[in-house]
Amino acid sequence: MDPITQEMLSSSTEMNSFTITTNTPNSSSMMGSPSGSSSSSAAAASSAVSSPTTLSRYENQKRRDWNTFGQYLRNHRPPLSLSRCSGAHVLEFLRYLDQFGKTKVHTQLCPFFGHPNPPAPCPCPLRQAWGSLDALIGRLRAAYEENGGKPEANPFGARAVRLYLREVRDSQSKARGISYEKKKRKRPPPQPAALPPP
Ligand SMILES: [Zn+2]
Repeated sequence: MDPITQEMLSSSTEMNSFTITTNTPNSSSMMGSPSGSSSSSAAAASSAVSSPTTLSRYENQKRRDWNTFGQYLRNHRPPLSLSRCSGAHVLEFLRYLDQFGKTKVHTQLCPFFGHPNPPAPCPCPLRQAWGSLDALIGRLRAAYEENGGKPEANPFGARAVRLYLREVRDSQSKARGISYEKKKRKRPPPQPAALPPP
């Protein structure tokens, strides 16, 4: 298993595992954080004190995802440069990530197909949850343009990627018996760069 990919996945699927590199060992900067706060907000608070260029968790995660995708490209066989990266390559990347997934997605033959809380284990495969992939693509899409990529050439904004994510959402929604629509309405708008209508 690729340790780099593993690291990225754990950070993108479990946000609370994230650590800020500018965090100082000096605990005095923690004084101002409210009691009972999670470790992540404490880390963010200490980062705000110790670092002049404070980045949000989203920005940090985006930078890490971008570095990891660069690593993926460098390890790609045959060699693949960012400028030649297409939507098809992004799909290849997303499918590759599935092997590290932690979300049980039932097949149609499974008796628990459509059950949100199955009462027993089953041999169905583990996948990346749609929400993780969707958020990851959003960050990579923004990072691509921030790193000089042209919007019209953005492989993360390709139609094929959009369709693939929709397909994953619909199939996981059915297989897991979960409606993503409710969650989606509650969630604040995640990225300023909204997807264009299909
Ligand atoms: Zn199953």
